[in-house]
Amino acid sequence: MKSTSSYTHVYLKGEVIFQQGDLGTSAFIIEKGKVEVSITQKGKKTVLAEYNAGDLFGEMSLIEETTRSATATALEHTEVVAIYRSIFDKALDSVHPVVSLMMLTIMYQRRQTNPSMLSKAEIDRLYSAQKKNDLKYQHAHAETVNLVMAESELSEAIDDSQLELYYQPVTSLANNKITGIEALIRWNHPEGGLITPGEFMPIAEKTNLINKLGEFIIDSACQQLNRLTQDLPDVYTDNPGFFVSINLSAEQFIYSDLLDQVKTSLESHMVSPSHIMFEITESILMVEPETAQRVLDDFKQQGFRIAIDDFGKGYSSMSYLHSFPIDTIKIDRSFIESMHTNATSMIVIQAIIGLAKAIGLNVVAEGVETIAQFKGAKKLGCDQAQGYYFYKPMPYTEIIDLLKNNL
Ligand code: C2E
Ligand code: CA
Ligand code: CA
Repeated sequence: MKSTSSYTHVYLKGEVIFQQGDLGTSAFIIEKGKVEVSITQKGKKTVLAEYNAGDLFGEMSLIEETTRSATATALEHTEVVAIYRSIFDKALDSVHPVVSLMMLTIMYQRRQTNPSMLSKAEIDRLYSAQKKNDLKYQHAHAETVNLVMAESELSEAIDDSQLELYYQPVTSLANNKITGIEALIRWNHPEGGLITPGEFMPIAEKTNLINKLGEFIIDSACQQLNRLTQDLPDVYTDNPGFFVSINLSAEQFIYSDLLDQVKTSLESHMVSPSHIMFEITESILMVEPETAQRVLDDFKQQGFRIAIDDFGKGYSSMSYLHSFPIDTIKIDRSFIESMHTNATSMIVIQAIIGLAKAIGLNVVAEGVETIAQFKGAKKLGCDQAQGYYFYKPMPYTEIIDLLKNNL
């Protein structure tokens, strides 16, 4: 066997790929060539199957966590890609929980009903693997049931108008005036009261519901921005740069119809892109840089503004910033919170501001709660701030009253 990478292997005619009795640690996809799978009992060989390019083989002992019950041999020059347990487990973790539960159920049943001819040592090893798997299965089962129930409840909540956008002002540190507002979603649960997004966004993100919820958020924000211009006819003369910020999650962002979806809402509510700012997190730029570049370029061309949310948290690679069409960076609350107690936080804030200024970006300090943090953010050169020190997020009617007196 010759390996061209840790996943791709080449076998010459007659070479054994795996042997009856080996531990099954991977399945294989044939890229090129032909493979024969056979068993040998009492010296007599029986061919079970022949596989060609594109076929998958060797998956059963990977799924069952057993030893190989047959031998695989290359019938000609054969190239295979190995699918290792770690890849399989990772793939299982990342699919919709219902698919993962079904797969686990099939695996579980196969292991129960397939007590192959194993040695005592193998049975012991399997028994402990089985116990571990039972727990994994039970956990996956409970998680899936909860998720499916929560998903349908949340979906009905959107239809029943239980979801509502709250708005938190963003304040200029130069003159303490409100420069824009950030839309933050809330769930008015009939029994649970007001639920914050931290509790239900992950459910939407794990399921397809994020598309429906994302559409609802974008459309509600556009509808209310239109209402705002009627309730406050002078909003843009008093403050030409006034904006509504809309948060986009990663799933929404790479969802191919996003721009069309946004355009439809803008048109139906007669809203101009220049009054909308989209907030995305750094991780989207790092994980999907090409998609991010394409989507952001499209958005920018339409006239939307773009902010990087929770900046400094997680990836914190600053070198990429200049290559994306970004207007604003929002320094994560954790740095603002500890700016006076943690020297590193202060250094990070200074570095972020230094870089942002060098490339002409607007800087917002997030989560300003105290007068000391307000003064600190201003002294360090942040342009705007957002936080409980100024205002908490509030429903539409309250934000209108506030804006009437504070623009
Ligand atoms: P975020 O975008 O970073 O929003 C700021 C969060 O910090 C909000 O929490 C806000 O209520 C809270 N906050 C603001 N000022 C302060 C402060 O001074 N102190 C403290 N402790 N917290 C403050 P919220 O509304 O619970 O939202 C949490 C996260 O959920 C948001 O973080 C955002 O990532 C996500 N989210 C909220 N609304 C939406 C939405 O419409 N769409 C998407 N995709 N995500 C959303
Ligand atoms: Ca945000
Ligand atoms: Ca944030």
